Amino acid sequence: MTALPDQDLSSRIIAEIDRSGPIRLSRFMSTALSDSRQGYYQTRDPFGKRGDFTTAPEVSALFGEMCGLFLAHMAEIAGLDNPNIIELGPGRGSLMADMRHVWKRLAPALAVAPVHLVETSPYLRRLQTDRLPDARLVFHDNLDKLPSEPLFGVANEFFDALPIDQAIWRITDATSDGQRGRQGTWYHRLVGIVDGRLDFVDGPALTAAEHDKWGLTGPSQPPAVRIDTTDGSIIEYCPLAASIAAKLAHPIAAYGGACLIIDYGRDGPTGDSLQAVADHRPVDVFHQPGAADLSHWVDFSAIRQAVKVAGARLIGPVTQGAFLKEIGIIERAETAGRAADADGRRAIYAAVDRMVSAQHMGTAFKVALLAPSGNGIPPGFATTNTTEGT
Ligand code: SAH
Repeated sequence: MTALPDQDLSSRIIAEIDRSGPIRLSRFMSTALSDSRQGYYQTRDPFGKRGDFTTAPEVSALFGEMCGLFLAHMAEIAGLDNPNIIELGPGRGSLMADMRHVWKRLAPALAVAPVHLVETSPYLRRLQTDRLPDARLVFHDNLDKLPSEPLFGVANEFFDALPIDQAIWRITDATSDGQRGRQGTWYHRLVGIVDGRLDFVDGPALTAAEHDKWGLTGPSQPPAVRIDTTDGSIIEYCPLAASIAAKLAHPIAAYGGACLIIDYGRDGPTGDSLQAVADHRPVDVFHQPGAADLSHWVDFSAIRQAVKVAGARLIGPVTQGAFLKEIGIIERAETAGRAADADGRRAIYAAVDRMVSAQHMGTAFKVALLAPSGNGIPPGFATTNTTEGT
């Protein structure tokens, strides 16, 4: 690991705070992750054994094949002309390559469709271009110019990488213990300098408009998980998640399609879920900005709300384990296992276990489907609480 450039990014953030005061956590995160010179995703391949973390598409090609089969099924029942393919945050391009592998045999219309990749990292764009040599790639920095045509796609571990803000609850009247939570205020949890180092500091109180936006008041859906209002409890808000979900929902509502959203998270507000990982190990959030991956737990209820306002619906989330098993990953692994030698078979079953079992990714990771409005529940989502998706 090179120490100097990381020092530089840290010093640049400290200088900015020295100049103009504490900054939003989202500002810190977008600088640490996406700064054009020293941001985490701009400069490296973070995936796999030698990287900082391993995603499901990097565990096994079966993951992408199952997603590809699922989308081929959705496209077939939709029966639409001119489908387009989209992936948000394609990483190394492995998931798209594995989906295309299936489509070339089973869904020729998807195999020849334009592939829209939403990716900000020039480094990863190069890896994706190399990995998908025969695809008609269209790169996007954001979702402002999606085609006015049906859209089928996937976002795996994309939303967790978007910058979040946090607020912290401070009890202002400590004597009213019987009414804990009533006498408090939500303050922005900003990034400032404490003893010469980056650290969290309390900022201004959330405004009335911010209370609405963060889902703390008003008619927005009752959170599946109650908001904790003990002193010092923390809530998160991901401004980009709502706007990106809405931008993705618009063409799907208008022209049809379906997009899988797969991530660790839950169906409600997530508390303090920000984490930093370097070299497969948790590290301090402020330790060498730009050298560690920063991510948070995705609040699927916030995505559902944005999707609903945009005229589409979010089906699920269900657990990744339930989704993959219901669409037949075990059977597909057995078929693949029969064609492999003993070592190969062991590797296939170990990979499936990692993706579906509760001790690994199977429960923490959730799968949701952004789809046009309607009532049907597609394969894979049988465990969905049907009242939630509408
Ligand atoms: N889907 C891949 C990679 C997940 S990592 C996999 O499962 O292996 C997150 C990906 O999102 C990276 O490709 C990263 O460069 C991209 N990304 C992160 N923030 C982004 C943003 N704001 N806009 C576009 N792409 C972003």
